[in-house]
Amino acid sequence: MKSEISRREFLARISAAGFGALAVSATKAWALDAITNPLAAYPDRGWENVYRDLWKYDSKYTFTCAPNDTHNCLLHAYVRDGVITRIGPSMRYGEAKDLAGNGTTHRWDPRVCQKGLALTRRFYGDRRVNQTMVRAGFKRWHDEGFPRGKDGRPDESYFQRARDEWIRMPHAEAAVIVAAALKNIAETYTGEEGMRRLRNNTMTKR
Ligand code: SF4
Repeated sequence: MKSEISRREFLARISAAGFGALAVSATKAWALDAITNPLAAYPDRGWENVYRDLWKYDSKYTFTCAPNDTHNCLLHAYVRDGVITRIGPSMRYGEAKDLAGNGTTHRWDPRVCQKGLALTRRFYGDRRVNQTMVRAGFKRWHDEGFPRGKDGRPDESYFQRARDEWIRMPHAEAAVIVAAALKNIAETYTGEEGMRRLRNNTMTKR
């Protein structure tokens, strides 16, 4: 059966067998003692600062996390060189008070979940929608003056979600469309006539 021993085992064995001098010379020949403390002998330990500075940041700010749930946790974002490098709990839930002055408890802290901690991946993800867009049909509905049928409902051809194309536009232009649409909706469903339309629409849906 093939048996292998390491150099150190070999030296230990020949030392134990009374060949100490041979062990010392072999140790020198194989440079086993050349570096007794690697951390003390390395010429440049600057690279270690990368690890020490891993948590360093230039500034931080508080924000409300709301990726796709309703918890709205109050978190801190840590920024370095203009990039959010990490996210953490704000640890300040215990200081919150309601309008009557009732305090809450620190037992809410640390309030954050894995989704919140990984939110930077969404901020900088290549799938993030980072430009204002409007569905082609919705834009057409706006451009044509929000036409509606007798019951107040617009034609369904304007609202082809998941089938329609998206049109990119500047933020200011999109804001105008949003404001005009909200105004139109508010006016359509206001007062007695608005209530009647709303009721009709609800009944029709059923
Ligand atoms: S930290 Fe988690 S639970 Fe809190 S809002 Fe973000 S995703 Fe929701």
